[in-house]
Amino acid sequence: MLLTERADRLFAGMTIAGYAIGAAEGILYLRGEYAYLRAFLEDVLTTRYRDHLLGAAILGKTGFDFDIRIQMGAGAYVCGEETALISSCEGLRGDPKTRPPFPAQKGYLGLPTVVNNVETLCCVPKILEEGPATFGGHGSPGSSGTKLLSISGDCSRPGIYEVEFGIPLTEVLTLAGADDAIAVQVGGPSGQLIGPKDYARKICFDDLATGGSIMTFGPGRDVLKTAACFMDFFVDESCGYCTPCRVGNVLLKDRLERIRAGRGEPGDLDYLQRLGTTVKTASRCGLGQTSANPILTSLANFRPRYEEMVKAHQDGFNPSFDVRAAVSEAEGIAGHSSVIYPQPIEER
Ligand code: SF4
Repeated sequence: MLLTERADRLFAGMTIAGYAIGAAEGILYLRGEYAYLRAFLEDVLTTRYRDHLLGAAILGKTGFDFDIRIQMGAGAYVCGEETALISSCEGLRGDPKTRPPFPAQKGYLGLPTVVNNVETLCCVPKILEEGPATFGGHGSPGSSGTKLLSISGDCSRPGIYEVEFGIPLTEVLTLAGADDAIAVQVGGPSGQLIGPKDYARKICFDDLATGGSIMTFGPGRDVLKTAACFMDFFVDESCGYCTPCRVGNVLLKDRLERIRAGRGEPGDLDYLQRLGTTVKTASRCGLGQTSANPILTSLANFRPRYEEMVKAHQDGFNPSFDVRAAVSEAEGIAGHSSVIYPQPIEER
């Protein structure tokens, strides 16, 4: 939305940021899905060069030289992670890098690099125009200013809303016409799936942090299906570099699907909790470190839904394990059938 409606403000913010840190080049990283915006954005840049707001000696100030170019991405979600984004700008595969060194120490082409999102940079000219006190007069302690929220899902008034930081989620739901939401995903797939008991919480960095995405789920939606859809997404988007994320997300998704199919056992919930925590702790970049959130937050906030889907089996058999299928190959090799007892050995 900001690139479409306020592109000039973004480029002004980038230019001011360049002046502040002594950078000579800025890069707008444009995801492949937004290629249709490129010609428009190039036009905006051309106008700024014509008006001496970009290029050499900006507005006649000797030594204030700043250029902006557009770098097209190919659509990988992980390229939103700053080190992967920098790799992609360098013409390399968009893989995250190990930190340290952090981009501010050694980033694009080995140079110190600042990476900020579009919304942050758009705030910069506004702060200079109106003064920091005015900007700081909005929002909540620790989260100054306003926030753009992109609200979608089961609501009668979806759209982009600008709200002050610190607004309770319940007010946001009323604005969007989602008072009957049974669950809300705050912060996109890597955020939190929360329920009504948390709707009084506030949108800000210290409480419910979000890059802007709010998805609402109305009565009749199944939170386990929601979590499974997000896990599908992470399995697809994992770059595959490190094992906890590449393998762990697949295992999490498989176990969740088993529960959804009605073949889950009580122990599966502990398994999901432990494996999710491992993926979160041991993954290399932000994608893996947040990819288990759909499961971990839905487990924390919608546990009764999980518990009604799992059941203990008194016969001692694991209902998700098909013993006949497991021994069929060996039976073929041995040339005879196995005897499968109806109860566990210790009970015979
Ligand atoms: S956490 Fe996932 S996306 Fe990040 S480096 Fe590891 S495999 Fe790649």
